[in-house]
Amino acid sequence: MRSSLPDFTRHLLAESGGVVEPSPDGLEVLLPAEVARLLEIPEHANLSFSGNSGEGLSVSYNSEILKKMARLIGDRGKFSTVGFTPPLVRIEKLEEHLDKKVVFHNAVFRVERKEEKLLSYLLGYCKYLALSDDRQEGILSCLINELNLSVQKTTPDILDLVTRCFAEPPGEAERESDERVLKTLWRAQTEIVKEMLREFLQSLERRMNRDIQRVHDYYQTLIHEHRQSLQKKVSAAEEKEKTLGRIEAIERELEGKIQDLIGKFSVDLRIEPISFIRVEVTSPVFWLLVRRRKEARRFPLTYNPLLKSLDPLPCEACFYPRKGHYVCDDRLHILCRQCFGPCLGCGKTYCCACHPKSCPRCGPLNS
Ligand SMILES: [Zn+2]
Ligand SMILES: [Zn+2]
Ligand SMILES: [Zn+2]
Repeated sequence: MRSSLPDFTRHLLAESGGVVEPSPDGLEVLLPAEVARLLEIPEHANLSFSGNSGEGLSVSYNSEILKKMARLIGDRGKFSTVGFTPPLVRIEKLEEHLDKKVVFHNAVFRVERKEEKLLSYLLGYCKYLALSDDRQEGILSCLINELNLSVQKTTPDILDLVTRCFAEPPGEAERESDERVLKTLWRAQTEIVKEMLREFLQSLERRMNRDIQRVHDYYQTLIHEHRQSLQKKVSAAEEKEKTLGRIEAIERELEGKIQDLIGKFSVDLRIEPISFIRVEVTSPVFWLLVRRRKEARRFPLTYNPLLKSLDPLPCEACFYPRKGHYVCDDRLHILCRQCFGPCLGCGKTYCCACHPKSCPRCGPLNS
């Protein structure tokens, strides 16, 4: 359903009750009064898509009229549910390769049961904006399995796929609460955006360190000069007092400058949801019995018919899709290496899903 700007405009205006005809430059439109008012254009207008060279009102990705079209869209398209016609998969074939696909570094598993089950995926689009002395923005789409909370970043073709294989939504699939799904998706999107912006963030840090170093060097030279003058001068006590006061003032100014630089380079990261499509589809599920020491836990491993591969196991702390998993001792959470790592303070490994805020032994200061 990826469409060009003229296609999008034509669909939107026709959908809003306008009469839309192709014209040599773009589109000739006759709009209901209310629509024309919202777009702030005449009811009868020619729209041109060929930049400013055309005759009519120019529509481009930067044009005001495109921004006003958002008013027409309103809440439409923010949430919808579609059914998906699944491709044929051989469940036995999938099962053959499970031990290569599922890796626990500190636990074992076996398939206890398998079934074909109605699954529900949420395809979530969000807009991100990272603001600092520079800005980075973009749109990200992620797919979350609402049964086991496995999240994956998706490419634009997924939208073509979802709309091409559209079927009536088959019914209610078993899933986690909307709140849990949305929180998980937001958590994963935040991690994914940070990973996508890694170079940008690193460059900010580099520039901040460079500027702090410069300011620091400059002020240290000043302080050094003042100290030298103290040694040289066989001056009156009053004069010495003055110089010491000046050094203190310079030190305070340096502290202020450094705080300003930290403020200038700090990043304000905003992530805002745009729209959601819930996709319901019947697909194979393998119920794994995961064992760690004497404990065991059942976990549904799902085959994703949209991406035609098994959904990766989620890290139940950060939900960022990474390979290789660990299982915690207390509640058998599934975790990535980062979320089951040693604490910087005491060196003991702990589970970031059981203890999201900090190491249970050291508290928030060290972990
Ligand atoms: Zn993790
Ligand atoms: Zn610790
Ligand atoms: Zn845990």
